[in-house]
This record gives sequence, C-alpha cells and structure tokens, in this order.
Amino acid sequence: MDTSSRDERTIAAVNGIATDSAFGAVTPPIYLSSNYAFPALEKPGAFEYSRTSNPTRSLLSETLALLEGGAGAVVTSSGMAAVNLLLDQLNPGQRIVAPHDCYGGVYRLLVSRQAKGHFDVQFVDQSDFASVAAACSPAAALVLIETPSNPLMRVTDIRAIADIAHAAGAKVAVDNTFLSPALQRPIAHRADFVVHSTTKYLNGHSDVVGGVVVAAKAVDVEPLRDWANLTGVTGSPFDSYLTLRGIRSLFARIERQQITAMALAEFLEGQPQVRAVHYPGLCSHSGHGLARKQQLGFGAMLSFELQGGLEAVRRFVSNIKLITLAESLGGVESLIAHPATMTHASMGADARRAAGIGEGLLRMSVGLEGERDLKADLAQAFAST
Ligand code: PLP
Repeated sequence: MDTSSRDERTIAAVNGIATDSAFGAVTPPIYLSSNYAFPALEKPGAFEYSRTSNPTRSLLSETLALLEGGAGAVVTSSGMAAVNLLLDQLNPGQRIVAPHDCYGGVYRLLVSRQAKGHFDVQFVDQSDFASVAAACSPAAALVLIETPSNPLMRVTDIRAIADIAHAAGAKVAVDNTFLSPALQRPIAHRADFVVHSTTKYLNGHSDVVGGVVVAAKAVDVEPLRDWANLTGVTGSPFDSYLTLRGIRSLFARIERQQITAMALAEFLEGQPQVRAVHYPGLCSHSGHGLARKQQLGFGAMLSFELQGGLEAVRRFVSNIKLITLAESLGGVESLIAHPATMTHASMGADARRAAGIGEGLLRMSVGLEGERDLKADLAQAFAST
C-alpha cells in the first residue's frame, strides 16, 4: 500500500505499527542494545552503534520528519541539544538573528556561545520586518523563529521572515514546541529547519526530556546527523520509545486541550484581577488574524497578567490546588509557571523588560482535566487572592 500520501493523524497513530518481522509484535519493540553484530568483516548491517543510529530512535526520527513534512530528522537528548545542534553548524563571524522574546534557555545559550566567539547574535522584534531585514544584512547565516513565543504568545509570520532571510542568504529555523506538527507545519511556510523540545506536546506525559531537528531538504540532514554523532547528543532508545508512544495520541490530546484553553482564556478575560490575557485564539490578541492563517489551531498555552505584580502572583500560586506550579508544558496535567522567576529567570531583568515579561505574568499549560474543575480552581485562587 502506498503510504506516502497518508494523513498526519494516520502517521502519528500507526507509523511503524505491525512491522516487526521477528514475532509480529504490533507495537514496534524497543531496541536497547548499544551495538549490533557485523554480518562479516567490512560488511556492517543497517545499525552498528547506538550513538550513531538505533532502530527505535530511527523510527521516531522518521515519524517526526513525516509529521513535519521534512526530508529527515535527528532526535536529540533534549530540546536545548536540538537548538545547540543547529548552532554547531555556524562558524565564528557568522550571524544569527533571534527573537528578542525567545525561551530563556535559548537566549542564554545564544549569549553564552557568542561570548565564546562561536558566532554573533542579534536579537530583534520579529514583528518589525524592517528590523529583521536590517539584522539579516550583510548576510546572516541563520534566523531563529519561535512562534507562538514563550511566554507572551506573540505570533510571528514565518513566511514573511523566511522570504526576508532567504533573500539575504540566511536559513530559517522555527521552534515549533508550543504547537507541535498537529497545529503548525513551518516547512509548509518555507522554513528550512524545525526544532522541538519533544519534552512537551510530542511526548506529552511529562516523563521524557528530548528534542529533534527536522530538516526540509535532504542535503541539510547529513551534516546534522554527523554532528549529533560526533558530539554524542543523540536521544536514548528508551526516551525515543516513550516519545513515539506519546505521539500516538498527539492529535487527540492537543485538540482537546486547545478547546479547554479557549474556554479558560475567555474566563480569565472576565476576571477583575487580570490585566491582560495572551492567547492567540482571542479576537483581542494582536496575532489572532495571523494565527488563523498560519496555524491549524490556537494551541493550549496561554499567559495572563495579574494586577498587583509579584505580591499578587505569590498569593495566587499559593492558592491553586488542582493546577501545579511547575516549569515545562505540554503534558496531560495543567501547569502554571511564573516566567520572571522560573523559565525566563536566566534572561536577566533588562532582557525580560525589553521582551515585555513583567513580574505579574503567569504562563499556563492547559492539560486534559475537565474544564469545570480548572475554572473552579482558578476561581477559588482569585477569590482568596
Ligand atoms: N524551546 C522552547 C520553546 C522551550 O519552551 C524549551 C523548554 O522549555 C526548549 C526549547 C528547551 O527544551 P528542553 O527543556 O527539552 O531542553
């Protein structure tokens, strides 16, 4: 049967299912072996050593490349390792153009590697196309995009930035962690690379740390594979197995989660203690129109600003009961994080101020709990604040 035109839902649910030739296992087995026998001298089999390649990781890579519409993918030990693998491709003197409001860890990695002379970095507000064009010229090597952004949910026009970057000779990488390929396919908008923290929606159960880089063109896959092997950042078979299991239910999870997120965003908009709600599904969100065009859904991440700053945050988070105060996102359980002291603490106060991340801001990852229970938890936290 021709599988090349399969729907992404089908790929997520069954890619690799019922392909085991040894015992007919329906679920593809996990291959933990670190090494593989050579059939004869100078005649390696399909696999030799698991840092280089591994059957379980290969199936996950193939599935992720298919879901993103790419030519190939490299699965890494974390989302940061995936971003770093891309950065490894640059040379001293080359420039990266990055969003001024990117994930705090990525911000710190870029600044730290720039300080070591690995490349130059320019942070820009990517809604300002003139600034992006100026930062790309003379020729930048790579433009990083994170959309929707973490934690303010700003939506960036991937196609417009890709056109500017390509005209200047730069490649474009999109961090698709917040939406997953179920809700956004950056390669269809001319991105050259997609990166993920698979820790989040792709695995979806908060029990794996992992990452991936997907390349749109075959020619860009091999250098990533080589470099991942060289630096030893490839993902483990066990994490690959769990991530593949998580992907089976990706569409069902995120589609349900985003319905609840929309209801909670509307609920939060009506609370007197809330100064602003950032959710691309709301008509009041500045990126709503673009999100409608570019995304296949609005996702299940939102953030909101409390009147009363840090003190109000302290009272609010000490009163939530069902929702957990924790970093990370994309799992089946709802989480609330305080970016200024948690996920984005490493950016430093000045960079946070420039990015618009205030002390009253809370970020919420909406899980699979019942909408009524989540609203009740938020309502009682507001009532006791
Ligand atoms: N990119 C984004 C948008 C993230 O939110 C994160 C982590 O929160 C990362 C990358 C880094 O991923 P990991 O924690 O898996 O290394």
